[in-house]
Amino acid sequence: MRFHILTIFPGIFDSYLDESLFKRAQKKHIVSVRTYDLRSFTNDKHKKVDDRPFGGGPGMVIKVQPVWDAIKKLKRGTLKKGKSRVILFSTRGKVLDAAIARRLARYDNLVLICGRYEGVDERVATHIADEELSIGDYVLSGGEIPALVLMEAVSRHVPGFLGKEESLEEVNGSFPTYTRPDIFIPAKGKKWNVPPVLLSGDHKKIAEWRKGLRNDEK
Ligand code: SAH
Repeated sequence: MRFHILTIFPGIFDSYLDESLFKRAQKKHIVSVRTYDLRSFTNDKHKKVDDRPFGGGPGMVIKVQPVWDAIKKLKRGTLKKGKSRVILFSTRGKVLDAAIARRLARYDNLVLICGRYEGVDERVATHIADEELSIGDYVLSGGEIPALVLMEAVSRHVPGFLGKEESLEEVNGSFPTYTRPDIFIPAKGKKWNVPPVLLSGDHKKIAEWRKGLRNDEK
């Protein structure tokens, strides 16, 4: 799985991707992440990637030209290998969920276009992106955090990304977990206990307890 991120702030990704699972997965060539600075694709003599909105209004809009030139370069090169999907982050997109994450994990290349300011010239949505995604009903300042969220949700489905496949909540469902100590004393006279069934050693009962909780939640 190769992620290609188009952004005007490539530095945002460095520290996050250099830790923990992403660091390990990149080292093992399970996923690769490349960032492309949209500024290096602009043909504006002042290196501008944004301009004022037609029709007036506050703020600036990311221009279509640098996005198109970046995509053209990718399509001529690295995207030739395998199946690709181009995603634009937008507050008007479908909201990312587990089913979408699973579906996207089947591509070899995901191109992630991160908007900023008032958003991206709509012609990117109309002519360049295969789909528009939102990560929830709120407005962020840019598509960079949505890109990280998407990469993390999708990578869990890439074989080898998680150390143990069983740790996929998607397989076992979600249930509360506890670890030692079984009795925690946060202050004198107070006790926070672990549900006794989890200490019983009875695996059948434990499985039922976990399943039961899940059904209650639904
Ligand atoms: N004026 C726009 C918001 C622009 S926010 C509007 O009202 O729709 C700037 C950029 O941040 C967007 O282009 C998008 O790429 C990203 N963004 C903001 N909120 C987001 C969200 N909830 N999900 C995905 N991307 C988001």
